[in-house]
Amino acid sequence: MITRIFDPRENGITAAAAVLSAGGLIAFPTETVYGLGADARNGQAVARVYQAKGRPNFNPLIVHVANLELAKQFAHFNDLALDLAAAFWPGPLSLVLPLRPDHGLSELVTAGLDSVAIRIPQHPTAQALLKAFGGPLAAPSANPSGRISPTEASHVMEDMDGLIDGVIDGGACAVGLESTILKVTDTHVSLLRAGGVSVEDIAQVIDRDIATPDDPAIPQSPGQLKSHYAPRTQVRLNAKTIETNEVLLSFGPDCNAAAMNLSKSGDLIEAASNLFAYLRKMDSIALDAGANAIAVSPVPMKGLGLAINDRLTRAAAPRN
Ligand code: AMP
Ligand code: MG
Repeated sequence: MITRIFDPRENGITAAAAVLSAGGLIAFPTETVYGLGADARNGQAVARVYQAKGRPNFNPLIVHVANLELAKQFAHFNDLALDLAAAFWPGPLSLVLPLRPDHGLSELVTAGLDSVAIRIPQHPTAQALLKAFGGPLAAPSANPSGRISPTEASHVMEDMDGLIDGVIDGGACAVGLESTILKVTDTHVSLLRAGGVSVEDIAQVIDRDIATPDDPAIPQSPGQLKSHYAPRTQVRLNAKTIETNEVLLSFGPDCNAAAMNLSKSGDLIEAASNLFAYLRKMDSIALDAGANAIAVSPVPMKGLGLAINDRLTRAAAPRN
């Protein structure tokens, strides 16, 4: 893949927005770091973000939008969330809010949770891109997993050249810190990650206690919970055969016994984009059939297979 460099002063923004609409990946500057953007409604595009970053797990991604009106299509804003949005958006604050039932986002963005992290960035290039694109962009930092976040287009090219469709060169990022992540429910406000907006500044806007990550009442980051989104039915991994009383979720060239197939052609991007929805469907198939386990065919431990196996392992973990 050839990675193009777009100039925001020329027609670069329109061209980059067209690549995003076609399901491509574009790195762009925000006031925090360079983000790697993909259409948050397109499961295959989002799966490619995980692939390009080489992420070994499906932690949820932050959704970037141009304005509050669009944000309200995806998340439910209570009065507290509206106050925070009015005070800090556009800017480096991500709000974790309840998902709306008709959100239309890929489940790879929310990692299957019933909440979504959302923000309106301030950087003029990010703003221009989001406006031209007109939809939600899932955008983690534009670096390979485990490497330092990029604050210049040249950093993105050093690490991601050949792996993504393009980068918009908008100069150096101002904050260089990640966004603050705040979870807001009707009863609690909790800090999930410290970042560009300080807790003191947040406390001036809302008349509530803010729980911090050390607070034992607050669960850890969602991806770290072991038996997270476990189906109600037991899950058996690396199944090469199917036992009586099992239903099979397969991967690769089909065998007739499979109830569902993550990807008949063995395409890991397709499998990743199907994973959450298929686990859910397999659970109801298993319950309807009175099966006592969901058997899952082996998924190779390469590329996106790492993140797929990580999620499957959590689904199969013993229940608390
Ligand atoms: P980043 O790596 O900057 O894209 O930040 C992503 C982080 O945001 C994740 O690792 C989570 O900690 C947090 N996050 C995103 N979505 C959610 C969510 N729905 N619920 C809780 N935390 C979230
Ligand atoms: Mg990062």
